[in-house]
Amino acid sequence: MIHTIAFLLVAILGIGLFVWQIRKITRNINLGRDKDISGNVSERINAVLLVAFGQQKMFKRPWPAFLHLFVYVGFLVINIEVLEIFIDGIFGTHRAFGVLGPAYDVLMAVNEVLGALVVVACIIFLVRRNVTKVPRLTRGPEMRAWPKMDANVILVTEIVLMFALFAFNIADQKIAQLNSTELPGTFPVTASMVNLFGSDLSSLALIAGIGWWVHIIGILAFMNYLPSSKHFHIIMAFPNVYYTKLEPKGQFSNVESITHEIKAMLDPSYVVPPAPEGAQPQKFGAQDVEDLSWKQLMDSYTCTECGRCTSVCPANLTGKLLSPRKIVMDTRDRMEEKGESPLIFSPAHYKEESERVKATEERTLLRGYVTPEELWACTTCNACVESCPVNIDQLSTIMDMRRYLVLEESAAPAALNTMFNNIENNGAPWAFSPSDRFNWANDLYTVSKN
Ligand code: SF4
Ligand code: SF4
Repeated sequence: MIHTIAFLLVAILGIGLFVWQIRKITRNINLGRDKDISGNVSERINAVLLVAFGQQKMFKRPWPAFLHLFVYVGFLVINIEVLEIFIDGIFGTHRAFGVLGPAYDVLMAVNEVLGALVVVACIIFLVRRNVTKVPRLTRGPEMRAWPKMDANVILVTEIVLMFALFAFNIADQKIAQLNSTELPGTFPVTASMVNLFGSDLSSLALIAGIGWWVHIIGILAFMNYLPSSKHFHIIMAFPNVYYTKLEPKGQFSNVESITHEIKAMLDPSYVVPPAPEGAQPQKFGAQDVEDLSWKQLMDSYTCTECGRCTSVCPANLTGKLLSPRKIVMDTRDRMEEKGESPLIFSPAHYKEESERVKATEERTLLRGYVTPEELWACTTCNACVESCPVNIDQLSTIMDMRRYLVLEESAAPAALNTMFNNIENNGAPWAFSPSDRFNWANDLYTVSKN
């Protein structure tokens, strides 16, 4: 009875805190502009199945993809065991799913093998981050302080959770052996380790209990840690991919008010639709998070900080300040600064003193976090968007901030201002009058029909 009450208290606390955090995150995402992203349901579901469930884009780099797959499938399958732990905890049963017979044998066997593969994958990931220091995971001003520690915290936690599960299984098997009872399930990884903890029944019961509690408390703590971590992508990847941009990558969105203005210029009979009642004058582009759409803000909660985008960015590769990963992480940091933040844990993220790109004192996303120099380094090539395993559209955020610089502040680089003037005056980016456009052909030899 005490066991059940303790379990219920822990479960209610863990789940309650998680729901509380999700509500904060929802409010943060809703800081963004409204944007209608609907329709094409089958195409969207297809994208979720391929990109989120199928990990399609991860396999552009096969080795990390396989290791990630172990962790991902391990996470999915272990959830079935978590369900069993909940049932056991609430009803005081022991291995409640054992009634499934052979299916339970398979489930436990798969669970243990995946658990072992998760440990191996996590150790390799730790080595890649801390020993071999894979550049895309470790370089860049955005990968200091909290983001650097976050990955290690999660990897070590996953290893501890797996060992707690193994300890529980080992002690449980030995207890069954000593009591001559039959334990449901097959345990290919731990079966040969049953003597590891000796033969004292009370010690074994204690170890099994500790393993069980560490596993469930660890999972609830992990769940509550997620919203403060890049690992929140294990939840956010699914809605984010569902609302992915379906138009061709090179297609830019138009600014609605400018579109109306141009249509009215070209066609005097065009009637500009009235603005909705009470609507505030719309800013051109984005200066801060509330000027971005809710989808762009959702993008920032989905980022895995994998650095695939930055590793293929031609601007970054040629030594410019721009890192598309940093833009996404900055958006999340600013959103949490402006909205509800940061949840249960208070990750310091990365601060000015950690040598990040020097921004001004302005507390807006643009200039407070992201400098114009970073934005103007973008070639709009879409390589970042293409490489992102969770379909984040980094370029749209960059373009919206550039739009703000051009349309609200006339703060484009001098070379671009010249081009804008030329387009306005000459109808072309070059500094020549339209009447001189065919001067280049004057000296050509021409054949007369006569
Ligand atoms: S679109 Fe811009 S940010 Fe993205 S890879 Fe190309 S240059 Fe880099
Ligand atoms: S934006 Fe995408 S590719 Fe870039 S770091 Fe985040 S998850 Fe990785």
